[in-house]
Amino acid sequence: MEMPIIKSCDVTECAYNRQNQCHALAITVGDSRAPMCDTFWRMDVKGGDPAKVGHVGACHMNQCMHNKDLECQANGGITVGHKAGEPDCMTFKAR
Ligand code: SF4
Ligand code: SF4
Repeated sequence: MEMPIIKSCDVTECAYNRQNQCHALAITVGDSRAPMCDTFWRMDVKGGDPAKVGHVGACHMNQCMHNKDLECQANGGITVGHKAGEPDCMTFKAR
């Protein structure tokens, strides 16, 4: 399996976000309710590796059609944005 890329992220208030790009090496997505980015972190410093683009390390959303064995296998990567006030995977699609 390959880790899908995070093509863009509109959650600019996250410490890992620079110019709408995620720079966390591997995020985790999903809790029991929603495909939320669990790596989201609000802080006054910037983190991650600015030379690298983030990838999805793991995803708990078994009910997403892109999920295989609790890993994201979205072809072409995912986008992240705001949904109901939370940083959510916008590529989520129910099976
Ligand atoms: S994908 Fe998650 S960790 Fe990365 S910048 Fe967006 S909210 Fe932050
Ligand atoms: S596309 Fe589906 S499997 Fe991939 S991170 Fe988003 S919710 Fe998880």
